[in-house]
Amino acid sequence: MADKVDVVVVGAGPAGIACALTLARSGVETAVFERGEYPGAKNVMGGILFTNTLAKLIPDFREKAPLERPITRRKFFALNEKDALGVETQFSDNSKPPYNNNFSVLRARFDPWFAAQAEDAGAMILNETVVDDFLYDDNKKIIGVKSRREDGDLLCNCVVLADGVNSLLAKKAGLRSALNPKDFVLGVKMVLGLPEEKLRDRFGLETKDDGAAYEFFGAVTNNILGSGFLYTNLNSISIGLGVTLDSACKLGLRPYELLDKFMQHPNIRPLIKDAEPIEYSAHLIPEGGYHAMPHVFNDNILVCGDAASMVNTSLYHEGSNLAMESGYLAAKTVIQARGRGDYSAKSLMKYGELLGDSIVIKDLKKYERLPEFLHSSPHLFNNYLDLAIDLVKDYFTVDELAKGERQKLMFKKIWNRVSLMQLASDAYKSFRSFIWN
Ligand code: FAD
Repeated sequence: MADKVDVVVVGAGPAGIACALTLARSGVETAVFERGEYPGAKNVMGGILFTNTLAKLIPDFREKAPLERPITRRKFFALNEKDALGVETQFSDNSKPPYNNNFSVLRARFDPWFAAQAEDAGAMILNETVVDDFLYDDNKKIIGVKSRREDGDLLCNCVVLADGVNSLLAKKAGLRSALNPKDFVLGVKMVLGLPEEKLRDRFGLETKDDGAAYEFFGAVTNNILGSGFLYTNLNSISIGLGVTLDSACKLGLRPYELLDKFMQHPNIRPLIKDAEPIEYSAHLIPEGGYHAMPHVFNDNILVCGDAASMVNTSLYHEGSNLAMESGYLAAKTVIQARGRGDYSAKSLMKYGELLGDSIVIKDLKKYERLPEFLHSSPHLFNNYLDLAIDLVKDYFTVDELAKGERQKLMFKKIWNRVSLMQLASDAYKSFRSFIWN
């Protein structure tokens, strides 16, 4: 007869650990299965950790967690093959606690620390253990998990799936259908080491409490849907990009070649000069948005984080905080269900209600039109960005041409590249997708 715990959590990422920590603190016997050698060993993130939920769970995390830098300045660039057009933000409020809840992190350092907090609260973490399937009773009700270790079956009252993107277990549980490549972005990332002094000089960072986040659009992804990023850590740089999986497959793009090309762009090359490659990784990101979400509960099972496609696809790139928030809400639901001794779908429906009232669903719903709009409008990433770069370049060109004549030529350029109808339609759709849905 297999052992039994109250709850099994599959996956020790932000979602799973936020859940396990909350459960363990309430005295719920919790086992977390993690396939990696240790939490964070297999995880990839840009990564800015958004700490709004972490601050609720561990209010003094800033003193304790292995964070890299608060993000105090941001830049956004449109790139074509050789030029760049950028906007910078630097808000003094974001340079002091709580630093707008934005910190660069390296998951191989952050995740083990976060998992240790759950262990200290009483959760049991089983590393290097893949969960392959569920245990069912005669009525096909989930009563535990089957893992890939000797005597690896474990009975439980409830399973929380926090096994990340492409959750095969959610599919096995009948909560999601086959995956659609349109709903995923393929992310590639490198960590490049750079001595702290050089890094601070290069990015204009005064202290270790200053950090920079750069985002890039346009030629960085060969003009297909996607974006690039560069974040400063204490003494390294995280650089990478993401492109939609279906475009990457259709065009036969090799992600590492794209990353190589991106790092050779004249706007990027000086930023990473003399930096030493430390790590290379690739991972999928579920960016299908609200309409790509699976069912998130059923009898004896809940799904949270990337396994439930909880990533905000807009300019925000928020995944870590939505994962933690959903893990926390899953735990709250289980604690109430335990009190009632009822883990049926009806009882776990509370999770849907809690999510609906949280930023998770509110934000995903707000941007529900965005994934479809971006897929149907690839020209936004080439025509408009390229045109904007060209126009600003023209505007500031100094030569024999009078300014008025140049501006007439600029208008001609606009109408040659885009019709009034197209412009109006794109402006309307952008407004509906990004601002008012
Ligand atoms: P994960 O962090 O993926 O954790 C899932 C865990 O489950 C893993 O540890 C895995 O090993 C384990 N697991 C999987 N299957 C099994 C199994 N069968 N048995 C046992 N264990 C299993 N988000 C941000 O907020 N900011 C960013 O800057 C950002 N940048 C990103 C850049 C890239 C390139 C990528 C790929 C993602 C980025 N994200 C970012 C998204 C973010 O990483 C995720 O939203 C977040 O990690 C989701 O947390 P999670 O706990 O749901 O899943």
